[in-house]
Amino acid sequence: MNEPVMAPPRSQKFGAAEGEGIVRCDACPVLCRIRPGRAGACSRYANIEGQLVRTDPVVLMQRAVADGGRVVEFAGADWDGQMLDPARAFLTGVGAGTTYPDYKPAPFIVAAEHAGVDTVTVVTEGIFSYCGVKVKIDTDRHLGPETAPVRVNGEQVGHVTTAEYGSQMLSIGGVRHLTGGSKKEGNVTCEALLKLCAGEPVAMSVDGGHSVVVEAGAAPVVDGRPEERMRVGCGSATIGIFAKQWEGHVDEVIVVDDHITGVLTEHQAGRCLDMRPAGIRVRGRKSTPGRYFQVASPGLGWGGTDIADPLSIIQKIDPAVAWPGLRLLLTSTTGEDALYCVLDENLRPVPAPIPQAVRAVVDRIGENVEPSLCSVLFMAGAGGSLRAGVTENPVLLTRSIARGDTRVTLGGAPAYLWPGGGITVMVDVTRMPKGSFGYVPTPAIVAPIEFTLPRELYLRLGGHAGDITTLAEALRQLGEPARVDAWREDNPWPFEPVERP
Ligand code: SF4
Repeated sequence: MNEPVMAPPRSQKFGAAEGEGIVRCDACPVLCRIRPGRAGACSRYANIEGQLVRTDPVVLMQRAVADGGRVVEFAGADWDGQMLDPARAFLTGVGAGTTYPDYKPAPFIVAAEHAGVDTVTVVTEGIFSYCGVKVKIDTDRHLGPETAPVRVNGEQVGHVTTAEYGSQMLSIGGVRHLTGGSKKEGNVTCEALLKLCAGEPVAMSVDGGHSVVVEAGAAPVVDGRPEERMRVGCGSATIGIFAKQWEGHVDEVIVVDDHITGVLTEHQAGRCLDMRPAGIRVRGRKSTPGRYFQVASPGLGWGGTDIADPLSIIQKIDPAVAWPGLRLLLTSTTGEDALYCVLDENLRPVPAPIPQAVRAVVDRIGENVEPSLCSVLFMAGAGGSLRAGVTENPVLLTRSIARGDTRVTLGGAPAYLWPGGGITVMVDVTRMPKGSFGYVPTPAIVAPIEFTLPRELYLRLGGHAGDITTLAEALRQLGEPARVDAWREDNPWPFEPVERP
């Protein structure tokens, strides 16, 4: 392994002393002049006795040893990092600081040997103007029309985007809300993003829709009501899954769903089971046999529709086909709502106690649903000047990442890299360390980012060779307390080869 070059201390990489003990912070374009004992506008930097200090500790993550050995929880200011095994420690960008303008090398460029390969990890905090979160809300309830504005405290912070299977999707943040509107819109958007990324609840409202409280990893709360169940599938899928189990216990099943309402005897599943047609026609537009679109309007009722009375979706019952005594089940796609009826002499559905065998299948729907959760994925573009802190020839870094030769992580968490140009990444915020995100008042979001690659490749990319150091040396020169978190074993170890799709 090559001998590391002694790197300058992090504190010398940013900040400039001015008169009267004032320090100018140059970690972002705001360039705060900070008086002694005070913090800058973002609270991330402070002037401690004339020195510019990052107010949050750098975060390292350490893998547990095979025998279950303990993970060091915290290291004091006088700690020199010696107790860390470099083979099991990963220095994250959390608390690393930024080196604006970006032609300066990143705060940490750390060399280590892993599995016989000399590697380098470039560690920094990125300032992202082009960023936001994609929110997946596991519910079939209608939150609002597609493209409708999503607001926090009256300011538009995003919009409803295309629904996914069993989930409603929101796009929150993005450069237009952060910097393209009013100052208030930008600040409210920034604050909402920070809370969402920190796993805190954020109350939102959708124009022409409903209110929802979103919290990463927690159940959504729609109009004050916590969601419990994600639907098992659309109405047609529910018919397909449970048709055999209903056979013999009911004569017709209607699964109410805002997307596709399924009608068992007409559906291919019922036909395969040779079920007798029931002659019950539901409202809406017929897609294919037994599959109906738009049986009602979207809403918070049965199956994501606006109906509270499921019988209201029955358009007609054909007297030439239906028969008195016909057993009819109406259910939602989550099994939360179900109504069992028997047709009387006039072929009118009359609610009746649900037989145990039918109840068991409805309960089986409930057993097959997944808990309703909110997922928050931070999405950002790192293809700009941030790259100059890594290499003097940025396009080589971009290409190396696209080829899979350089791994990108955010706080050690795996990042999904979008194909095509740039370095556009997405990461699940719940897989990142606590306190990963910050902001600067431009406004923009600050997030950790690390690039890990073979040292030999780093040099070929035009990397800052003179700033490569070891982990222990970096921590010794840091001269500040560091935080050591346990490595999340569900995150891939960044020093393992990148998996190519
Ligand atoms: S906003 Fe924060 S990072 Fe930017 S100059 Fe001020 S203290 Fe430094």
